[in-house]
Amino acid sequence: MNSEKIKKTIQRLKREYPDSCRLDAPLAPLTSYQVGGKADVLATPATVEELEQIIRCCTREGVPYFVMGKGANVLVHDEGFRGVVVLLEHCCSQLFHEGELLYVGAGATVADLVEYCEKHSLGGLDYMSGIPGTVGGALRMNAGAFVGEIGDRVLRIDALDKKGRRVQLPREEAQFGYRRADGLENKILLGCWLFLEPGDREQLSRSREDYLKRRAEKQPLEYPSCGSVFKRPPGDYAGRLIEAAGCKGFTVGGAMVSPKHANFVVNFNHAAAGDIYEVIWRVQRKVYEHSGVWLELEVKLVGFSEEDQRRVEKP
Ligand SMILES: Cc1cc2nc3c(=O)[nH]c(=O)nc-3n(C[C@H](O)[C@H](O)[C@H](O)COP(=O)(O)OP(=O)(O)OC[C@H]3O[C@@H](n4cnc5c(N)ncnc54)[C@H](O)[C@@H]3O)c2cc1C
Repeated sequence: MNSEKIKKTIQRLKREYPDSCRLDAPLAPLTSYQVGGKADVLATPATVEELEQIIRCCTREGVPYFVMGKGANVLVHDEGFRGVVVLLEHCCSQLFHEGELLYVGAGATVADLVEYCEKHSLGGLDYMSGIPGTVGGALRMNAGAFVGEIGDRVLRIDALDKKGRRVQLPREEAQFGYRRADGLENKILLGCWLFLEPGDREQLSRSREDYLKRRAEKQPLEYPSCGSVFKRPPGDYAGRLIEAAGCKGFTVGGAMVSPKHANFVVNFNHAAAGDIYEVIWRVQRKVYEHSGVWLELEVKLVGFSEEDQRRVEKP
């Protein structure tokens, strides 16, 4: 990657989109872990057209970009991200419905979506209550809890392909699976149609409260985290394996395996991203030695080297 070229492109983005692009923007406050360095550029396009132009510029000049939601499932490197981090909260936050079909922009939060459904007596997504993040992040991760996942309710997704062209993807093309949506890789998700069902507002409100209570009982919500660090391995639970390997409470610097929920690595005391990464890798090794299972990461690493990525992928 030619750093002169990157510098020129960054200056150009700032010149052409002064209201939407910030240089040297700290990412830590934008993530639920509250760690990580700066992005060369933080772009918050005002419209989808502006988003398209920024993406085309990055693609043409070979400048890396990363679309971030609320950063609830990312670990940003202490050195930050060399390139452009794009947020969709200004250009993609629509929320409306026609009967039981609802359109939601990828930059809207899951909390807004759940609240909207409740207000308009639309059922079928109440189990998403308390999942932090945006609809774009939820689609990309096929986020879910308790009894379902967002992919169960998707009809169609609007997106940009990697060249910045608009595409519409029917649900089958997303290839939703457990915490994955392989068909959405390399796409920028703009929004989606969801099919819902009639619901009773008071019942939905009670159900939301109940899900939130169950989360607070089980999860260490008092500390910054990314939720579950590892995916559930087939036929088992990551938390059970981590606890069985004796890792509860294991600490590096300010990062610790939560004593309350072993699949949460929490930032309990001004952790660096490097501390969290180290805990993750050491837990993988200990679990592997103890049970022969290599836990797969659910959290996405941002700004880490290929070597760092490889180290956590396989034993
Ligand atoms: C306390 C806590 C509890 C949690 N509980 C749950 C839970 O119960 N169930 C669950 O599934 N998850 C849970 N999570 C994880 C997290 O909330 C979800 O993964 C969520 O969907 C992430 O959304 P986000 O907007 O923050 O995405 P980010 O973390 O910002 O991004 C995650 C991934 O999605 C991609 N992405 C985001 N937006 C777009 C877009 N518009 N287009 C293309 N790609 C995009 C990013 O590039 C990245 O690869 C929890 C997290 C926390 C902190």
